Amino acid sequence: MEVITRKDFLPFALPDIDDTEIVEVTEALRSGWVTTGPKTKQFEADFASVVGAKHAIAVNSCTAAMHLALEAIGLHPGDEVITTPYTFAATAEVIRYFDARPVFVDVDRRSLNIDPERIEAVITNRTKAIIPVHIAGLPVDMDPVIAIAKRHNLPIIEDAAHSFPTKYKGRLVGGIGDFTCFSFYATKTITTGEGGMICTGNDEWAERCRIMSLHGISKDAWKRYTAEGSWYYEIVAPGYKYNLTDIAAGMGLAQLRKTTTMHRRRDEIARAYNKAFAGQVELEIPTERSDSQHAWHLYMLRLNLERLDIDRAGFIETLKKSNIGASVHFIPLHIHPYYRETFGYRPEDFPIAYQEYLREISLPIYSKMNDEDVQDVIRAVVDTVHQHRR
Ligand SMILES: *Cc1c(COP(=O)(O)O)cnc(C)c1O
Repeated sequence: MEVITRKDFLPFALPDIDDTEIVEVTEALRSGWVTTGPKTKQFEADFASVVGAKHAIAVNSCTAAMHLALEAIGLHPGDEVITTPYTFAATAEVIRYFDARPVFVDVDRRSLNIDPERIEAVITNRTKAIIPVHIAGLPVDMDPVIAIAKRHNLPIIEDAAHSFPTKYKGRLVGGIGDFTCFSFYATKTITTGEGGMICTGNDEWAERCRIMSLHGISKDAWKRYTAEGSWYYEIVAPGYKYNLTDIAAGMGLAQLRKTTTMHRRRDEIARAYNKAFAGQVELEIPTERSDSQHAWHLYMLRLNLERLDIDRAGFIETLKKSNIGASVHFIPLHIHPYYRETFGYRPEDFPIAYQEYLREISLPIYSKMNDEDVQDVIRAVVDTVHQHRR
């Protein structure tokens, strides 16, 4: 069978940057105010208003955001935090920063999100928080998670690195949990190069996150050095250096204005993929919720390996030969050496996360892709299936 291969390599992910970002960043550079300042304040205000959060605190990563959220609730050594093994390194490492213990709960097979039905069984008197991850941009079923959290008086810190703009039952993620932490990393649905945001409705927690994001100082540089502020400041705790720059925030402002158009395009690509792959018995398309909006940060396809004569690595290799970049999300945390050796986990301790990982591939899905790119991905996937079906 002749396989038509596109001429240039289609990267797995690319940011959607045009003149509007360049104008905003140039403005910051020309203004002379390159670190946290007016653009960051504006980005916080605009973001809070979009997601419906009372407070939004801009930081330089989602990892920093989650670290600060755990600090604000007062996590201590020996405490436990419930989360999912089916996620990126950051979700659990921030728990380890406190010498606390990540308690993994296996995922729901279809959604790949934390299975709410398994949460209550692992709650102990050391449990201090729950960190659900809206994987790929598909919302976690929050109602049961919120009910459990209420019953046990536990704060919910959402890892929303994939979930802008995700809606759960009509509400945007960002205005639902006690804390919501977003990522603006290069590959995410909106990017500032590196960046993140903490959203919370709690005044005290917001104040603590803000202070700890900049050295534990009770006023930030902008207020200190402008006419309306003063030279005086107080260090109230040994904080961190997690503030976002105005150069990055400028990018964020431009990206935020494009949210709807960028999301609409990712949604279109997801529809095209679903339509092309739904009829292939060798493939399982991603789950959606009819009551919610998927952000489509990732398009997570699953292979029915028993129907193919190649494994997942072979599938990705074949796509690469057709000049299509693909990836895997995620290698479950409990099978990584650090978590295996520290907590004695075996792959079968979280069997669903492990089994689904073995057959997952993520396809390119970003607003810079044109129709031809989308058709090239579809053709490469379908050709690979046809060549390797049993
Ligand atoms: C990207 C990612 C993060 C980390 O985001 P940074 O902004 O790079 O710190 C956290 N959680 C998940 C699930 C991610 O994919």
